[in-house]
Amino acid sequence: MEEYELGIVGAGPTGLFATFCAGLREINSITLEGLENTGGQVLKFYPIKDVLDIEGIPKIKGMDLAASLLKQAETFNNKIVTNSKVTDIKSDAGKFILEVNGSDAYSVKAILLCTGIGSLFPTKLNAEGEEAYAGKGVYYSVNALEPFKNKKVAVVGGGDSGFDLANQISSVVDKIYILEYGTAVKAAERSVADLKGTGKAEIMTDTEVKEILGDGQTVRKIQVLNRQTNSETTLDISAVIVAIGHKTETNTFKSIKFDTFANKLEVDDNYSTSIPGIYAAGDACTSGNRPKMGLLAVGGSEAYMAINSIKKYLNPSASIYGEHSTNLKL
Ligand SMILES: Cc1cc2nc3c(=O)[nH]c(=O)nc-3n(C[C@H](O)[C@H](O)[C@H](O)COP(=O)(O)OP(=O)(O)OC[C@H]3O[C@@H](n4cnc5c(N)ncnc54)[C@H](O)[C@@H]3O)c2cc1C
Repeated sequence: MEEYELGIVGAGPTGLFATFCAGLREINSITLEGLENTGGQVLKFYPIKDVLDIEGIPKIKGMDLAASLLKQAETFNNKIVTNSKVTDIKSDAGKFILEVNGSDAYSVKAILLCTGIGSLFPTKLNAEGEEAYAGKGVYYSVNALEPFKNKKVAVVGGGDSGFDLANQISSVVDKIYILEYGTAVKAAERSVADLKGTGKAEIMTDTEVKEILGDGQTVRKIQVLNRQTNSETTLDISAVIVAIGHKTETNTFKSIKFDTFANKLEVDDNYSTSIPGIYAAGDACTSGNRPKMGLLAVGGSEAYMAINSIKKYLNPSASIYGEHSTNLKL
């Protein structure tokens, strides 16, 4: 079994910055991410939105921020592995075994949980053809504008996410249908007005997607039912974006139990959980039984402080503080 000083669980913004900090403090770490890519909520929820509240970065798109975080995390070549969901944590003679995707995988001396709001899964439509065309015209997030360029696109879901995604792609598409199951759209008035202002949107309420049809390679049509009139219509479209919400799977590790508050891991001033050797940072944790607003800058600062505490835990004679990065010659 591979051995590391530190296992970082989750490669969202907090886990990625923690990976950089671990390298800075010369900690031999492995970072494990359950999803197919790193970046956490930034990449899943707002890849094309501008983030304005990170110190020193006046404006950056979510996808650019996710790419920068990964690049910075790779500075010291600390290992990062995706498609690796930590499914259990077992104590093992002063160390821990990280079970990944159901099998014992890594032995570590300390753990930093950067698991955010848990594992994220998009809610599926369960329409015929959806599975067959997933990634071939059926999308659950927008990571680039190219697949929608000069196309007719159906966005399923008339809530904030649906309108956000529709607005994000509106500059490149020919036409956008918003398909809402209920009697009215539920997005913020400003988003609705922005989309209507493009002159490219058609909003269809009381509409259920029955089937996604294609030519085997990509989506060509969509069959929808008007729930008021019970009549079916076929729309010629080339892409479907499903925006009917995400499900979050809360982490429960069967071999270990943590103190929590409001579904977050309770940590002390050193970012230690109730289990010595296991720390937490970012959206995953809170302290003093207080609710906490999840913010990128907060997660980053907590990651830095947690790594300093972990350095001291791993090597009690080490200084709690490392060097300023300006002292390094990279
Ligand atoms: C729509 C929206 C807009 C936002 N806008 C802003 C903003 O403008 N400014 C701002 O500062 N903040 C903003 N935020 C909040 C910000 O995105 C979060 O605070 C930040 O993403 C927290 O980072 P994190 O790494 O702690 O958690 P997450 O981003 O949730 O990342 C956690 C990662 O851990 C992984 N994971 C979970 N469990 C496991 C497991 N068992 N094994 C392996 N991997 C696991 C997840 O898959 C995920 O990739 C916004 C959030 C949303 C939803």
